[in-house]
Amino acid sequence: MATISALDLAMVRNIGIMAHIDAGKTTTTERILFYTGINYKLGEVHEGAATMDWMEQEQERGITITSAATTCSWLDHTINIIDTPGHVDFTVEVERSLRVLDGAVAVFDAVAGVEPQSETVWRQADRYGVPRICFVNKMDRVGAEFHRCVDMIVSRLGATPLVVQLPWGVEADFKGVIDLVRMKAFLWSADAAKGEMYDTVDIPADHAEAAREWRDKLVETVAENDDAMMELFLEGVEPTEEQLIAAIRRATIASTLNPVLCGTAFKNKGVQPLLDAIVAFLPSPLDVPSIEGHAVGDEEKKIERAADPKESFSALAFKIMADQHLGKLTYIRVYSGTIEAGTSVVNSTKGKKERIGKIYQMHANKREERPSAVAGQIVAVMGLKDTTTGDTLSDPAKQVVLESMNFPAPVMNVA
Ligand code: GDP
Repeated sequence: MATISALDLAMVRNIGIMAHIDAGKTTTTERILFYTGINYKLGEVHEGAATMDWMEQEQERGITITSAATTCSWLDHTINIIDTPGHVDFTVEVERSLRVLDGAVAVFDAVAGVEPQSETVWRQADRYGVPRICFVNKMDRVGAEFHRCVDMIVSRLGATPLVVQLPWGVEADFKGVIDLVRMKAFLWSADAAKGEMYDTVDIPADHAEAAREWRDKLVETVAENDDAMMELFLEGVEPTEEQLIAAIRRATIASTLNPVLCGTAFKNKGVQPLLDAIVAFLPSPLDVPSIEGHAVGDEEKKIERAADPKESFSALAFKIMADQHLGKLTYIRVYSGTIEAGTSVVNSTKGKKERIGKIYQMHANKREERPSAVAGQIVAVMGLKDTTTGDTLSDPAKQVVLESMNFPAPVMNVA
């Protein structure tokens, strides 16, 4: 049983996928789980047949997300996908899930562009300062317009999109994307089911001029939002790929830029580059170094907790779910310290003692028991009796309340 405390927090991404209904949130999430599953399996099983069996099985059943937080891995990083309810009716739940994640992917429909619900969740994410990357989905649909969607991100959301990819073709002719960071083209592979989704090729001649223009625009926009990049820009130095990625990451985490990618999740195109972008641009728990709570019974007395496994333990319960096999599971985000299975904590919101039973990390196709969980981690725990969503769990000797009683502020339904 691997210990979570050995885990490098810099390699964790706690993300949500948010969208207007029908934009493709479910499809995108399923493809992510599908591909990270293949990745996992390819690393473990060296026999092609076993992998194929697993894939066929999954394709028949379809991978669905039944868990409030699903863990997967990509490029040695752990990605926790926190389910954010898509309906405006569930505003309280949406806000609570936005609170426990560090970054998000906003999925748009390339035909419909920015829709009313995309606006609602975007504003909610603004309130919590959640860094976001944008994925313009459904590039295969008749009427898909990437640049119109980018323009709407400016006009409707007031955001500063950073185009990091250009579509290569559109609708039935959507061949791939031009990556403006690497200045290469990704040509969708005909055999995506084998795991490799694209071949990296030179930018086609008929796209070279547009690519050059958009690349210049990208570097300029990043420079306007990042001091280190501005210095290079003023000196006329072309940034290296690493410098550019690091600067885009800083500006994304600062929520001044929103990198924009495109694809068609339905046809398995664009999901791999999206996973790469999640790892490259979205924050780790270490990029959100502390959380503010307050003392028990005194909302005015503020308490800061560092995202450090050695701090006193604090966590927020954000979802209760009934698991078919395990019974009641409470999903928590650990904000500070370490929690071990079988130990006692206090529900500092309700003033009740609770015992942490088993701790699990939930994957799309399995669950993994863990001896402990540390700051930055999202896990499901068994054994909590009185805890409901929004409650804080903390070290009995050093209590803190992370969510105030009047959370969340009322938001009108716009249905
Ligand atoms: P959600 O409501 O945002 O979760 O959207 P879904 O993932 O359920 O997708 C809504 C519909 O759009 C479904 O019928 C999908 O099959 C379809 N869809 C999703 N992604 C794409 C895509 O990239 N292209 C096309 N043409 N259809 C898509």
